Amino acid sequence: MEKIMGKRNIINLVRDEVRGLRPYDALEIPCDIKLDAQENPYPIPGTIRNKMLKALKPLLFNRYPDSGAKELKRIIAGQNGVKVENVMLGNGSDELIQSIITTFGRTQGKVLYPVPTFSMYGIITKALGQIPIEIPLQGDFDLDIDSMLTAIKKDRHRVIFLSYPNNPTGNFFSESKIIEIIKRDKTAVVVDEAYFDFSKKTFLPLIKKYENLIILRTLSKIGFAGLRVGILIARPEIVKEINKVRLPYNVNSLSQAAAKVVLENRNVIDKQIKAIIRERERLYKGLRRVDGITPFPSEGNFILFRTSKNANKIYQGLIKKGILIRNMNQSTGSFGKGLLNNCLRVTVGTSFENRYFLEALRTLI
Ligand code: PMP
Repeated sequence: MEKIMGKRNIINLVRDEVRGLRPYDALEIPCDIKLDAQENPYPIPGTIRNKMLKALKPLLFNRYPDSGAKELKRIIAGQNGVKVENVMLGNGSDELIQSIITTFGRTQGKVLYPVPTFSMYGIITKALGQIPIEIPLQGDFDLDIDSMLTAIKKDRHRVIFLSYPNNPTGNFFSESKIIEIIKRDKTAVVVDEAYFDFSKKTFLPLIKKYENLIILRTLSKIGFAGLRVGILIARPEIVKEINKVRLPYNVNSLSQAAAKVVLENRNVIDKQIKAIIRERERLYKGLRRVDGITPFPSEGNFILFRTSKNANKIYQGLIKKGILIRNMNQSTGSFGKGLLNNCLRVTVGTSFENRYFLEALRTLI
């Protein structure tokens, strides 16, 4: 009888890059107050919920979704002043990051991004057998443009990722530095505007001028993380290429139908966004008033802050009090040069959640 392959052997078959990976840690720690993942804390208003349910009812679940998500793309294109040919959708912007690297990567190709930044750039780069080139940010969290340009010159970078504003630091990188990078046109430059709805600044108009510019957006941060709808906007000739690596039915019919309702009722969501921006300012001021806490200004729906005490202990202390935030206290690996020593990141919650969190933090510091 053929010998059954043991566990050790099958693991030996896994690619080295994959074996060395640490998965994205979407922690599932049960907590009353969840402020770890940049979600919108407000539930969908009843009016939109009802419209959504109505839109879902006639869907034919025995049929595949519209592969091209034509109607949803038409709405997104219209709202952003671009053509349908400029738009591609993903199962969250995570999937679009993967599609971009798949499109531009080479055998042992290089992907460049500043650190600390969104961890999925690194995880997907490695998973696809590409080599990450991580350039630490300056102490003020802006781009170290000289090191970035030197790295671009040294290696043939196929893709550069710039989170704008940057997760987890919350700041915009200097516009002029980003333009300088885009102008080195031998690389595709992805400006990831996942937090655009809170930051309001965009590079989108520049896709007319620069053919190597790709903009990413998402519905996740404005209340629809569960739908998994990411948006890519770029010149039609790039979209056409990236679209070739997209899996045929990547945005399911429920998400397409629900997202259409969301976007057709943007005014209701915009009210929630305004409330989150107001709360962000309150939370920032509240954090500044806590002794031993230094918050960094943020353009997103989250705030990074440094603690004078051991951040791991504060993070654990908050969990014990039923509050989950994100521990950024990592000085090695993709977080670069200890820039986030004793740093934690909190998502802006409702006014009650933010007050509850501040109260708990005060008792721990
Ligand atoms: N880009 C950035 C900068 C992010 O912070 C996130 C979410 N943490 C994403 C992309 C992924 O978002 P999505 O839910 O659309 O996959």
